[in-house]
Amino acid sequence: MTNTVRDILLAFVRVHVLHHAVSERVYGAGMAEELARHGYQLSPGTLYPLLHRLEQDGLLVSESEVVAGKVRRYYVATELGRSALIELKPRLAELVGEALPEDKAHAPARTRKPRIPR
Ligand SMILES: [Zn+2]
Repeated sequence: MTNTVRDILLAFVRVHVLHHAVSERVYGAGMAEELARHGYQLSPGTLYPLLHRLEQDGLLVSESEVVAGKVRRYYVATELGRSALIELKPRLAELVGEALPEDKAHAPARTRKPRIPR
């Protein structure tokens, strides 16, 4: 994987983290699982600094909580994080619409088998 592709994927990951953090508390291991579900294999050495950086930039805020005897750091989006996502979403939609026109609206309808009345 080239550095450019990696950078782009990490940007997707940031958007994904923000997306979840606006509606729920997220934490490193849980987010790693969620991202794995979407096909991203991130090492803690990548994900934790990414979360930390989002907090440093004021998009997330964290609090620590002891869960099953271990300290867990939960993150939620700040107002700045929320407005960043609001700013990003139409651009994301625009890009998807242009780069993936087939996937946009009609793909499911096209693959659907016509129903033959009997
Ligand atoms: Zn997700």
